[in-house]
Amino acid sequence: MPPQRKEEKVCQYPGCSKPAERSLPRKKAEGVLGTLEGSGRRVHLCRDHYKKFRKATKKERELERLSW
Ligand SMILES: [Zn+2]
Repeated sequence: MPPQRKEEKVCQYPGCSKPAERSLPRKKAEGVLGTLEGSGRRVHLCRDHYKKFRKATKKERELERLSW
């Protein structure tokens, strides 16, 4: 048995198994995407689901930007 288990970073969105490119605090990510797999404090997301997350949180940011 290898002494170290290789950490596989795969998207933790249910049903998605694409390679993860980003990690986010679980609370934040679940607030937008719903329950995610795994149990760590951070969740890993693939590019597509990260985009989805960004899109959903972008609205708030755009409201701020509209004030100029
Ligand atoms: Zn994904």
